[in-house]
Amino acid sequence: MEKLALVTGSTSGIGLGVARSLAEAGYRVVLNGFGTPDAIDSVLSEIGSLSSSEPIYIGTDLTNVFSIEKAISELLSSEGPVSVLVNNAGMQYTAPVDEFPVEKWDQIIALNLSAAFHTTRLCLPAMKEQRFGRIVNIASVHGLVASINKPAYVAAKHGLVGLTKATALETAELNITCNAICPGWTHTSLIQTQIEQRASDLNISEEEGGRALLSEKQPSQQFVTTDQLGELVRFLCTDVASQITGASLPVDGGWTAQ
Ligand code: NAD
Repeated sequence: MEKLALVTGSTSGIGLGVARSLAEAGYRVVLNGFGTPDAIDSVLSEIGSLSSSEPIYIGTDLTNVFSIEKAISELLSSEGPVSVLVNNAGMQYTAPVDEFPVEKWDQIIALNLSAAFHTTRLCLPAMKEQRFGRIVNIASVHGLVASINKPAYVAAKHGLVGLTKATALETAELNITCNAICPGWTHTSLIQTQIEQRASDLNISEEEGGRALLSEKQPSQQFVTTDQLGELVRFLCTDVASQITGASLPVDGGWTAQ
């Protein structure tokens, strides 16, 4: 039977890129995230076409711990152990720290950090039992460095890098690895508002707004692609990568080298 790979937030963007790569690698993918029924059907049929096994969809809201517990418990009992867990679901909100809405802080910490703790703690026992597991946390360059107006995001992503190291140490002898990937600007819906804001601030086109974001932080002047991130996750799941654990891997066109 195909190994199960749960990718949170995989109805769009980076998570969808990861789901594609893992389906192509032969995993049975469990998709999660929001979207209209039509959009989710189309993601399910695309992922299904890449693999011999039918993908599964769970629409769980990962800001709610009780929903996570229910969903993972049902998944484990109906489908067996999760071999690959990719904690990818995330959101952004920008404002200075002294103006940051408290409910946005709580939501970002819940989704970008606590959800990964909950899925990890719930999936780990079965990974330990089968003596195999690959956990990949999609952090960010903001897990390594800060930027202005992103206090909750930066705090959550630094926390996720910490959770990655702690999990890696506890599982190091068990053929389980836990790593963080730290992408720079990747052109998805998550950064669309920032591109539009930049375009409107500078009275330029959206394309120029995107280039302005890149020129400020990302020396390659190119967006990271979701395919590149998907392929890195696929590599981390191989036996060749068994000694890579506890790492935070920047994929950022040189952003954090500065
Ligand atoms: P995206 O908006 O395209 O995807 C986010 C995914 O999370 C979607 O599938 C969405 O439905 C899902 N989601 C949102 N709220 C959810 C909730 N409450 N419960 C369950 N699922 C939920 O954005 P993306 O850029 O692909 O972001 C994916 C991850 O990559 C995030 O953790 C983000 O912080 C990280 N990241 C993105 C960039 C970038 O430049 N785009 C850079 C570094 C890190």
